Amino acid sequence: MLTDEKQSQAIDADSDGRPHAVVIGSGFGGLAAAARLGARGYRVTVLEKLDAPGGRAYVFRDKGFIYDSGPTIVTAPWLLEELWEMCGKRLAEDIELKSLEPFYDVRFDDGSVFTYGGDQERMQAEIAKFSPADVPRFQKFMARSKAIYDYGFAVLAYRHFSSIKTMLAALPKILMLGGHRTVFQLVSSFIKHPKLRIALSLHPLLIGGNPYSVTAMYCLINHMEKQWGVHFVMGGTGELVKGMVGLIQGQGNTVRCNSEVSEILIEENRAVGVALKGGETIAADIVVSNADAPWTYDKLIGKRKRRRWTSGKIRRTRYSMGLFVWYFGTDKKFDDVRHHSMILGPRYKGLLTDIFHKKKLSPDFSLYLHRPTATDPGLAPPGCDSFYALVPVPHLDANVDWETEGEKMRLRVERRLEETVMPGLGAHLVSSRFVTPKDFETRLNSYKGAGFGPEPVIWQSAWFRPHNRSEEIDRLYMVGASTHPGAGIPGVVASAMVLDQVIPHAQELV
Ligand SMILES: Cc1cc2nc3c(=O)[nH]c(=O)nc-3n(C[C@H](O)[C@H](O)[C@H](O)COP(=O)(O)OP(=O)(O)OC[C@H]3O[C@@H](n4cnc5c(N)ncnc54)[C@H](O)[C@@H]3O)c2cc1C
Repeated sequence: MLTDEKQSQAIDADSDGRPHAVVIGSGFGGLAAAARLGARGYRVTVLEKLDAPGGRAYVFRDKGFIYDSGPTIVTAPWLLEELWEMCGKRLAEDIELKSLEPFYDVRFDDGSVFTYGGDQERMQAEIAKFSPADVPRFQKFMARSKAIYDYGFAVLAYRHFSSIKTMLAALPKILMLGGHRTVFQLVSSFIKHPKLRIALSLHPLLIGGNPYSVTAMYCLINHMEKQWGVHFVMGGTGELVKGMVGLIQGQGNTVRCNSEVSEILIEENRAVGVALKGGETIAADIVVSNADAPWTYDKLIGKRKRRRWTSGKIRRTRYSMGLFVWYFGTDKKFDDVRHHSMILGPRYKGLLTDIFHKKKLSPDFSLYLHRPTATDPGLAPPGCDSFYALVPVPHLDANVDWETEGEKMRLRVERRLEETVMPGLGAHLVSSRFVTPKDFETRLNSYKGAGFGPEPVIWQSAWFRPHNRSEEIDRLYMVGASTHPGAGIPGVVASAMVLDQVIPHAQELV
């Protein structure tokens, strides 16, 4: 930590009369917060540790293949439209969103496939293929999903949970909607067929939650996808990163890469700037951290300055699963593979228990397969296909030596794909790279290498999650997956909207 003398040396050399906001991290939450702050009259500097912006949506290239390393499914596009409008622009001018229908294939271990989509007639036919008796029950489930969405997202996602009172006020309605149950319990209270229960309860895994533990409020995703669709950004999700950086730069503000913050400077319990690795200090009127909130508290703020987010509490927090992601390119096209597929292993509940509770790397696994070239062939050289396979695994509490296990895991994934939807894959691989939970820890500063921050169980949601306005330090704010409302592009973009309620108006600070 810096001495008091050094802290007061933090200077603001670029001052132009606007109050200065420093945003630590350039994930979607940080970029959305920066654009909103710019629109509200702040001068903004985004400081990013990596050599390019995007965080989990970092883009890399290899041998002509363009890989989005993280998010691929864009839902709730109106949140992006609202952001662009706030900056005086139109989303469609910068970004081409392509709506996908159907959304994805869910392939079970016995080879049967449930094709999931937004078209309700097709969905009912698909349900009937497995269990005709579940068709009317599915309609009832979707009605509940809508009711949960109407409150759980349309109201609560934008609410600032500043006090336990806000939480207590929301609780009766959450309980009435079944929020005390888990996603799997709620789905199973409507749907009887075991495979349909799986296909309709998978969604929390996309934001780091175990369907057997997370609150049934996450059943809102089924309605969100149905109502507003599943989209792909043409050119890759990286275009969305580029678009947001463009909004920020268009406001005369800055995104600085290769700039890792080592400390948040605090005077009289107020954030007054940051120190970078290497010693530079930057003064700020407010600091917004888009770095993982547990990491922010544990590593960027001295122990003595924290009462609630102590190192012990941070360690005891339950974290989302880790991710093993293998990015690969082939010199032929696998035309039978849909853009999004879930390829399930033989176990569902047992596997999730191994990952989330026993913290054990099991020999069996399930995976999500992304084939962006099914929609945008421009992401690979002509005649080639680009992919990633994402495997949920335990986070770093599992003590797996990823240095040795990584390549073994990659080979197992390759074999599994060859046996299921990509026969002959090995002979056609021309580009290959993987990341493990260890990379999430070392590259992205993710506590315990978790893919999505604290797990979204009910006692770690809303008021119980790290607050968007720090409970510890004045003029310090949090945005992104580990704060309210949670992970996923809609969640982190909504978390930037919550900041509008708690960050002072720029005029108050000049
Ligand atoms: C493989 C994968 C697939 C996913 N798929 C989807 C999907 O299809 N759809 C969807 O909606 N969501 C998806 N998600 C979730 C979604 O990507 C994330 O929840 C979201 O992008 C996280 O954004 P964030 O704002 O929390 O920031 P992050 O993306 O976590 O970025 C935080 C940034 O802070 C930087 N940083 C950390 N510490 C410092 C420091 N000290 N100084 C400077 N910079 C620092 C990091 O380098 C990083 O760039 C996926 C996630 C993963 C990992």
